Amino acid sequence: MENDNQNIHKVIIIGGGPAGLTAAIYASRAELKPLVIEGYQAGGQLMGTTDIENFPGVGEKVTGPQLIVNMKQQAQRFGTEFLTTNVDSVNLAQQPFEVKAGDKTLLTQTLIIATGADARWLGLESEEKMKGRGVSACATCDGPFFKDKEIAVIGGGDSAMEEANFLTRFTSKVTIVHRREELRASKIMQEKAKNNPKIEFRFNATVEEVLGDTSVTGLKLKDIQTGETSTLECQGVFISIGHKPNTNLFKDQLELDQKAYIVTKANSTVTSKEGVFACGDVQDHVFRQAITAAGSGCMAAIEVERYLAEKE
Ligand code: NAP
Repeated sequence: MENDNQNIHKVIIIGGGPAGLTAAIYASRAELKPLVIEGYQAGGQLMGTTDIENFPGVGEKVTGPQLIVNMKQQAQRFGTEFLTTNVDSVNLAQQPFEVKAGDKTLLTQTLIIATGADARWLGLESEEKMKGRGVSACATCDGPFFKDKEIAVIGGGDSAMEEANFLTRFTSKVTIVHRREELRASKIMQEKAKNNPKIEFRFNATVEEVLGDTSVTGLKLKDIQTGETSTLECQGVFISIGHKPNTNLFKDQLELDQKAYIVTKANSTVTSKEGVFACGDVQDHVFRQAITAAGSGCMAAIEVERYLAEKE
């Protein structure tokens, strides 16, 4: 195993999505010579997004992967180095922190965690096949593409209610498909959805298959009480069954909240460990947008810069 002991990095950034890459742009312009460890599935959730119309400055639109390429090139232009491998472990017990990735053991004075979160998916083969062809997990990102279409939202929590309500701005009809009789969402969110004339509910139903070839044409649903299957015609499906932050590496080393997101100080990216900062979806389950992730990545880099300046 290669030990990079002589070289103690000023900052290592784990994660190559908009939060990590924005942190890298700022940190490299501040001459901190950041190293980004971007993992084999670099780019994060944007890699599964088709057109992005709401990221300021992209003009008419840009694809998620292209936006990531642009950000990465921008970071490289200022001297950011990249390592494409998954991080196996981190040791935050003492500074410099230790990061083991592939055949390397790296040391760093500070760490920016930008490992993101993943939408939970149903796990169906047909769902995987139709991602980006009518199956999405982000109403804010993809809702406007479904103008005057009929769509389904899967889930019974606050997010599903909120997304269904939001989607009725564009769509002609939204059917919320929930696996139980009772919704998990708060009363107020339930009422909003129930009072929306464009929203219908299918309770006690699970999705067996997403139908369609090049684009979604419907869902095969199973009634869990009777076992009967039926087809719900729709042109889009939004999966809204929660998110999972990528924090396994930091369990027992950093304070995490009940849902395993990293806890950061208010208006800051400071974590429970001095010298460790977190930005993007790994510490945000509220906004979860590329632009908010990028914003907090900028905050993390500035906080690292100030932290190192104070230490020196
Ligand atoms: P959530 O509260 O965990 O709800 C997830 C929903 O998805 C549940 O109804 C669950 O069904 C369903 N589900 C989970 N796995 C499933 C599967 N494999 N197949 C079918 N259905 C499945 O997640 P969330 O709605 O994303 O909310 C996350 C947190 O953010 C919550 O604390 C929520 O209150 C908060 N939030 C607040 C607001 C707001 O106040 N404006 C908006 C959005 C989110 P069961 O009910 O059967 O478990």
